[in-house]
Amino acid sequence: MIEGGFTGIDVERGHALRDGAWRAGAPAGVRRTRVVIAGGGVAGLAAARALRLAGIEDFVLLELEDMAGGNSRGGQVGGIACPLGAHYLPVPGDEAHEVQELLEELGMRRRVAGRWEYEERHLCHSPQERLFFQGTWQDGLLPVQGVGEATLTQYRRFSQRVEALRHTARFSIPVLRAQPAPLLLALDAVPFGVWLDREGFTDPHLRWYLDYSCRDDYGAGIAQVSAWAGIHYFASRHGFHAPGDDGAERDAVLTWPEGNGWLTRRLADPLGDRLKAGHAVVRIADTRSGVEVDAFDVATRSRVRWQAERCIVALPMFIAARVVENPPELLRHAAAHLGYAPWLVANVHLRAPLADRPGAAPSWDNVIYGTRGLGYVDARHQALDPTPGATVLSWYRPLGPSAYDGPDGRRRLLDRPWTAWRDDLLAELSLPHPDLAGLATRIEITRYGHAMAIPAPGLLGQLGQLGARERVAAGRLAFAHSDWSGYSIFEEAFTRGHLAAAGGAAA
Ligand SMILES: Cc1cc2nc3c(=O)[nH]c(=O)nc-3n(C[C@H](O)[C@H](O)[C@H](O)COP(=O)(O)OP(=O)(O)OC[C@H]3O[C@@H](n4cnc5c(N)ncnc54)[C@H](O)[C@@H]3O)c2cc1C
Repeated sequence: MIEGGFTGIDVERGHALRDGAWRAGAPAGVRRTRVVIAGGGVAGLAAARALRLAGIEDFVLLELEDMAGGNSRGGQVGGIACPLGAHYLPVPGDEAHEVQELLEELGMRRRVAGRWEYEERHLCHSPQERLFFQGTWQDGLLPVQGVGEATLTQYRRFSQRVEALRHTARFSIPVLRAQPAPLLLALDAVPFGVWLDREGFTDPHLRWYLDYSCRDDYGAGIAQVSAWAGIHYFASRHGFHAPGDDGAERDAVLTWPEGNGWLTRRLADPLGDRLKAGHAVVRIADTRSGVEVDAFDVATRSRVRWQAERCIVALPMFIAARVVENPPELLRHAAAHLGYAPWLVANVHLRAPLADRPGAAPSWDNVIYGTRGLGYVDARHQALDPTPGATVLSWYRPLGPSAYDGPDGRRRLLDRPWTAWRDDLLAELSLPHPDLAGLATRIEITRYGHAMAIPAPGLLGQLGQLGARERVAAGRLAFAHSDWSGYSIFEEAFTRGHLAAAGGAAA
């Protein structure tokens, strides 16, 4: 018998927020602070850090859930730490210097003999990834074993195409540091699938891998995301490596048992009681004399009004558009163009190690070819004790539109009982692990209705975020959320949080 259920996010709070129930009546009290940060995901926590670095200690951070971190929170099942959402951070490039500085502060990187070195213990240990393809595990995620010469030729040609594109325009992380080059805007205008057709990339294995990559980073398939997004995935980091490529280097990735929850906990810890968890921001008004932010305290069931000099709105864009009174044109315009991919993360506790199929050894990231889910990461992969034992596998299931899913992902996320997702998970992971159901004791499922922005064709152009302006602000409000980048990763959220706070500090 496998126990389990939904956990992590309180879906009812999101609905109460939408229905306006928490806005009724007069506020129970008024309090003052210099800066209010609305939303305690990576962007809000980064804003708090930037304020502190600028010597501003008089602020509050209001967070809807009982714990800060947003999509980057960690949890545990059966006493074993595991991610509830985001689980890794690639070693950041120089354009993400705010993230580099954070990692330095946390002791993750240091200079040795003139070169930067990252903390070995938190760099993903080898073997990093494997693919269950044609009945065996193979090393790496690109289907290679047993594929024909025509497939390998397309791998090589795609690799060369990505290389050529990244030499023509800068694919930068964070995206706001890229120049608004015509090439990037042209790629932004077409669906990735159409661009692949046009370029003659027809091989089903290549297309499976590219579709997997888009669902992995953006929650939606190659027909839904722009060609900019499809190329950016590779061009902004180490490129695309065909088998046998010279210098093929795997992305160096930082990861922790509780995923990026390791980072958000360290960002939240110094805030003390300035972090108000369980506080839903229901109204933000930019008035002549300052900002008013109304927050509903879920524990006391009362509403408090905060008066401040300014507010950093680190909320998802669709919520910001709802709670900001008379939303500025830039927010209205951006929110009208943004669509979201829902996601589900299931953490499965296993009482003993799985027997393995032939091929590549158990890895951190384990993907099964041709399935709806994205496979699983093993929460004990980074453990210093190599003895196989009980562990937790985190199964990732994107629900944005793709070849596997229609546009009704959010509805299904809310309507289906946890046991239906359990059965999907068991069916998928039992392909390589027939003993999984017998070893699983508990499955905890976190649902994200609006998990991440889908970089649909035309979105970057609409958001005007390619190098257009470093700080998105209107009056006393500064906006900071990964949604403003048109896609969601740690570096985007963190940089935006920093800039939103730093801009105001200078003002
Ligand atoms: C399943 C999943 C896996 C991912 N994996 C990775 C990964 O491995 N690596 C990576 O870099 N990125 C990953 N991401 C992307 C991830 O979204 C970003 O890394 C980052 O966490 C986004 O931070 P944010 O602050 O922009 O947004 P959010 O995480 O959306 O933060 C917004 C915050 O605002 C709060 N909030 C909402 N409404 C209110 C309100 N009315 N009042 C107060 N607070 C409110 C929310 O509770 C939340 O805490 C993943 C995302 C998902 C969903």
